[in-house]
Amino acid sequence: DEQALRQELRAMHGASYGRYKSLRGQWRFAGFTLQVQRVQPDPFAPASRCEVRVTDEVAAFPEQLWRSPVRARALAGYLVRAAHRHLGDSRLRVDAGGQQVLDRSACQVDGGEVVLRLGIDLPGRGRTIDGRQAERALCDELPEVVETALRWATAEQARVREFVASVEDTDALRRQLPGLGLIAFVADGAMLPRRSGVDERPLPGGVPFSSPESMRVSVELPNRGRVSGMGVPEGITLIVGGGFHGKSTLLRALEFGVYDHVPGDGRELVVCRADTVKIRAEDGRRVHRVDVSPFVSHLPTGADTADFSTDNASGSTSQAAAIVEAVEAGAKVLLVDEDTAATNLMIRDARMQALVAKTAEPLTPFVDLIRPLRAAHEVSTVLVMGGSGDYMDVADQVVMLEDYHAHDVTARARQLAAQPTGRRSEADTFPPVRHRVVDPRSIPTDRPKVRARGVDALTLGESTVELRGVEQLVDPAQVTGIGLALVSCARRGVLDDSRTVAEVLEAFAADVAERGIAAVDDRHVGDFAVPRPLDLAAALNRLRVLRISGFRS
Ligand code: ADP
Ligand code: MG
Repeated sequence: DEQALRQELRAMHGASYGRYKSLRGQWRFAGFTLQVQRVQPDPFAPASRCEVRVTDEVAAFPEQLWRSPVRARALAGYLVRAAHRHLGDSRLRVDAGGQQVLDRSACQVDGGEVVLRLGIDLPGRGRTIDGRQAERALCDELPEVVETALRWATAEQARVREFVASVEDTDALRRQLPGLGLIAFVADGAMLPRRSGVDERPLPGGVPFSSPESMRVSVELPNRGRVSGMGVPEGITLIVGGGFHGKSTLLRALEFGVYDHVPGDGRELVVCRADTVKIRAEDGRRVHRVDVSPFVSHLPTGADTADFSTDNASGSTSQAAAIVEAVEAGAKVLLVDEDTAATNLMIRDARMQALVAKTAEPLTPFVDLIRPLRAAHEVSTVLVMGGSGDYMDVADQVVMLEDYHAHDVTARARQLAAQPTGRRSEADTFPPVRHRVVDPRSIPTDRPKVRARGVDALTLGESTVELRGVEQLVDPAQVTGIGLALVSCARRGVLDDSRTVAEVLEAFAADVAERGIAAVDDRHVGDFAVPRPLDLAAALNRLRVLRISGFRS
């Protein structure tokens, strides 16, 4: 128990560092248990790991705060942040995350029991144990954080309720979208701009969002009641406006609308459907056996564009592959920003059509495939395009941003589109997706090293997966989660020779629904978050050692 741990640590003081490993195992405290899961071999190794469990009776949060899965995730999201705040500069560390409330291993609420997982840099002086410091961390600070951050009796109860209610509203709002025929919703009063590219907190003094009246929708939420905002309908939505008027900021907010944001973030009521994927050009990436023929008819190299592979894709082929991969993985909403798109894949205007014959141009621009994609695959697109008017021909609605204010300019855009430009469409269908079967041996299963380099890359065994082009990732814990989930899927046969990519993702999602974070990693030692299936697919597609063993229609 706690006294035994104190004595043990005092007795260890000054002993050689390796003796710390005798701490492994379970220690009983008043009100909670401490499981020391992994002990670092030396002071410079990655931190040691431990798990704290506070029983339902001691934690004593009202059942209504954790009854449903979304509330349990929200309560855990609150508690992990409270613990993080409380720990300050302690050598105990907890991975609380940022503005998004993710399902993460660092804190879980399970049937009222609170589980907190921490790292601790076990203190040493040179190669000897500093038992006094260790005692302070484990026997003083740890019980303190449990007492003040993980119990209803001492919690800031109004804030806990507000946090859980807010996350539940966001989740409910997102679930309402399909029934309303919407792909996204931006509440009036939402704050979209961030402080900077490296600071995700809301921009102080930013202009709050206000919806154009013609697009205004009012929805009923379980806790907040009625709220109004801009509903983005299914179909093709164009966001136009002058440079610096807030187009990309709106699109960024939609990209992160797949997540629930913490109260005060400004994007609590900015949501998009869960099956939304941001598409961008990403030259240099690997593409493996993707049918890019809708976009690329032939290549000077003579490569087969219906079964296209490269270790070094161009801007346009990388973007074409990203679109086809997203559709294969089940995306129903694509988000594209001109700032990060390949121009030659986006547009080919009348004059260029006149000058360069279709037979001499392998690329079919997105402008001609965006409607066929909708017709054949029910895929909606939101596109930021301030630089070309050709998209007016294909847009269902056009939103103009002016000084950060949104206006519905669809009627005017229709009038303009009625005047012919002489441009001819170059495609009228989008062929069925050919589903790929992944060779399970692409993923190492012998407990390979899984490590995130921020949100930019994943180390998986011997290979590195570049993720800079996967822009909806927000937290290194998701990257770790992707690596662990891939390994878990391969080990457990979720990923096997009979399943297509889409089927693997479906099976993974079902596993998460049933087993929660255990579907990602059942050892629960490190910090990770449950990844979106679509981001799992994005990582798989960027794996340099990915092999495809076959196809199914
Ligand atoms: P665009 O894509 O139209 O060129 P951006 O979305 O990149 O414009 O925005 C330009 C600048 O304006 C950015 O620095 C952004 O932070 C800021 N900004 C965007 N929306 C708002 C807003 N609602 N209030 C205040 N500043 C904003
Ligand atoms: Mg922009």
